[in-house]
Amino acid sequence: MLKARDAVLSVPQIPQLTAGRSGIFLDLNENTSGCSPRVLARLRSLTASDISLYPEREAAEAAIAAHLRVQPAELLLTNGVDEAILLLFSAFLGTGDEALYPVPTFPMYPICARATGAATVEIPADRDFRHPAAALRAAITPRTRLIAIANPNNPTGALAPRKDLQALLEAAPDAAVLIDEAYFEYCGETMLGELPRFSNLFVARTFSKAYGLAALRVGCLLGRAEHLDAIRRLAPPFNLNGIALACLPEALADQDHVAAHVTAVKRERARLEAAFSKYGIRTWPSHGNFLLADLGKWHSDFTAQLATDGIHVRDRGADSACSGCVRITIGTSAEMDRFHAALPGALQRCGWHVAV
Ligand code: PMP
Repeated sequence: MLKARDAVLSVPQIPQLTAGRSGIFLDLNENTSGCSPRVLARLRSLTASDISLYPEREAAEAAIAAHLRVQPAELLLTNGVDEAILLLFSAFLGTGDEALYPVPTFPMYPICARATGAATVEIPADRDFRHPAAALRAAITPRTRLIAIANPNNPTGALAPRKDLQALLEAAPDAAVLIDEAYFEYCGETMLGELPRFSNLFVARTFSKAYGLAALRVGCLLGRAEHLDAIRRLAPPFNLNGIALACLPEALADQDHVAAHVTAVKRERARLEAAFSKYGIRTWPSHGNFLLADLGKWHSDFTAQLATDGIHVRDRGADSACSGCVRITIGTSAEMDRFHAALPGALQRCGWHVAV
């Protein structure tokens, strides 16, 4: 009987995260304030041939390379960072290899690693969710072919110190080390400048978050030209659609739009931290557009109660690496007003002792 490879069947089904959402979306770390008006204007100007012809990627790729101050040969545009992860892991991992990453983290790492037949080595962070630098280095073996670090991390918001990432790159010269900077714009910390020093370094960036283009699916993978050349052999030639390619230069040109969004996120993130602290609910310092809160045994009830108010947050509490935790994306001020108004009632209905 026809059957997919065992490695593929070992991967759990990915839930349909966007199915049936209505109301306020604070569950998928999107930019709910929207993309630049320049992008919308470009979309409105599209012609029939923009749609009917296979897309040309070089111009957009060159614009992004110039913006990031790398050579075009060091960059591959991908269908979101999701595809960058899939391509990188497929290029470097196979049966008998090990993929190493800290947990909790972005679930695409185990999914894409296991599908290749590689073993996954997960290093738990302590409850402070600090980057477990020493434990990660100690877990490197001759079979470690890939290491993935989300920086800032999702769902914790933690930022790994640069010196720890440098030490990791040094300790694993035979492994591809992915520093996934999906939330770069919210913290400004990057390892991109280390590309000349470390030949095993890969950096990923996305336009789904601060640029507000999640539905267009645009990300990029950066690394040494010789490695990118290998990955390009695997990538579908038209993996990035023409509509996204047409919009990219406009999104990139409107840095004021990105900066205003980042400022608003930081302000609302601080307000949310203060609100949770008022109720005695622990949160962790976040460098992304989201905040992780410890709801303990109430995590799923709390998420369900907010949903009855039309507010969607992400329950990560069943994950043993962040048990009891719920992740809240920072929305617009108006959306966060709605969240703050709903918070005391949701806590009360799920039995949390509301002290104030
Ligand atoms: N990496 C991290 C750490 C993420 O949190 C996400 C999205 N939640 C992604 C990658 C995927 O981003 P994209 O939309 O570019 O596929």
